[in-house]
Amino acid sequence: MRTLTILGSTGSIGGQTLDVVAAHPERLRVLAIAGRNRERLAAQARRFAVPLVGIAADAQAGALPAGFPDGTRVLWGHQALERLATHPAADVVVVATVGRAGLDATLAAVRAGKRVAIANKEVLVMAGAVITAEAAAHGATIVPIDSEHSALWQCLLGEDRGGVGALLLTASGGALRDCDPATLEGITPEEALRHPTWVMGPKITVDCATLMNKGLEVLEAHWLFDVPMERIRVVMHPSSVVHALVQFRDGTLKAQLGVPDMKVPIQFALSYPERWTAAAPTLDLVAASPLVFAEPPPGRYPCLDLALQAGRQGGTYPAVLCGADEVAVQLFLQRRIRFTDIPRLIGAALERHVPGDERDIEQIIAADAWARDECRRQAAV
Ligand code: NDP
Ligand code: MG
Repeated sequence: MRTLTILGSTGSIGGQTLDVVAAHPERLRVLAIAGRNRERLAAQARRFAVPLVGIAADAQAGALPAGFPDGTRVLWGHQALERLATHPAADVVVVATVGRAGLDATLAAVRAGKRVAIANKEVLVMAGAVITAEAAAHGATIVPIDSEHSALWQCLLGEDRGGVGALLLTASGGALRDCDPATLEGITPEEALRHPTWVMGPKITVDCATLMNKGLEVLEAHWLFDVPMERIRVVMHPSSVVHALVQFRDGTLKAQLGVPDMKVPIQFALSYPERWTAAAPTLDLVAASPLVFAEPPPGRYPCLDLALQAGRQGGTYPAVLCGADEVAVQLFLQRRIRFTDIPRLIGAALERHVPGDERDIEQIIAADAWARDECRRQAAV
């Protein structure tokens, strides 16, 4: 039996993690859940008999909020996530929060030596140097949930890392892949949120439309697998059937294929080293044919270029990338800026940033906060 803390249980990945738990009640148990939506947290606490709940909102003194089962212990405030992530009874901490929100709790979980199943990629992009160093120092293991990274992990299992030539991440191209670039300026949030192959939370769906998501994933892969940025490539693959590939020095390409269903990589992060039966259908290779691949069209995805540039520059540039992106996407979803302003604002923040040390968590947090302010300031101009 594995005991889980699920941070961000009320979101897309968090909810699918609970679906995996529901499919394997004899193997998985939920100790704690956390998020912001109280009604959804209460419903989850009732359904899974969760003893501990974190609500990331200001403390409400006293009584249990309505809807929670008797006996549930509710922790309030941002620190609730850290407390639940370090609880001695938690075997695995699933980080399914989004953006900056999961940083402190991930760091706390790693310092507590936990197995951390991470979906919240921004945390690794911002603070990969600190998190991987702390994981090594405290005996924590970080396993990916992101489908491409789960694929890379599976392709690398049992392999000698010295034989790895390159990592290849596939990209669907997102909701706007077939759009005339001249029309991007007028794209609405509804259009950007219509992803062709995956149903996900709003921030990552917009990140897929800009291909920022794939840029973040290159940095995520760099930190997870300790492969230099210049040996990680992005390949367009519209049907999201091949999730990623590893190219070995002897010319072999090893790929992982499957239906686009996040419950598969979520379950593997929880079951590893075992493989459990899953409810997801097995891929029908014939129906999935032909598999099509292409180079990313040059100049079409400025956010991808910005992410790769920030990754190459290192230091606190990736933290600025994440902070500015989170704010820019939010402003776009609130209809306060245009779709094409997203890369413009992020690019401006990166240009004005005075970089700091990627191994210093205080400098990373400060760079993220600076980028958010800078992005809001530029948007108001
Ligand atoms: P969602 O927006 O659906 O969910 C985000 C979760 O984080 C919610 O539970 C939300 O709580 C919680 N949250 C947000 N802000 C805070 C905060 N300040 N404090 C505490 N909790 C907070 O996102 P997704 O599930 O789509 O994505 C989660 C992460 O996984 C992202 O980093 C994404 O890039 C990555 N990912 C997602 C995939 C997917 O298929 N969805 C695929 C691969 C990676 P509430 O809803 O209660 O406000
Ligand atoms: Mg992905």
